[in-house]
Amino acid sequence: MEMKYKRYCQVCGKLIPKKSESWSRYLKKKFCSYECYVKSLKKPRKIGKCIVCGREFEYREGQQTGKFCSQECFNIYQKKKDQENV
Ligand SMILES: [Zn+2]
Ligand SMILES: [Zn+2]
Repeated sequence: MEMKYKRYCQVCGKLIPKKSESWSRYLKKKFCSYECYVKSLKKPRKIGKCIVCGREFEYREGQQTGKFCSQECFNIYQKKKDQENV
């Protein structure tokens, strides 16, 4: 059974080769090769805006959501949400 996967490298935009040895590894990372993966690490971080305190902050895509500047603000948001649900 063959799955239809078509993923494009986030760095160079090339189709990620399916027969590549470490394909599944790169698929997870969304890169066609180790080179592109390394390049992506050097890319400037994204700027996000905290939805709790409104502060702008840098974050890395995939590691953080870009919604919260810190764990503290995330906790505040979670608490508020819990209270609203009661
Ligand atoms: Zn690539
Ligand atoms: Zn914040």
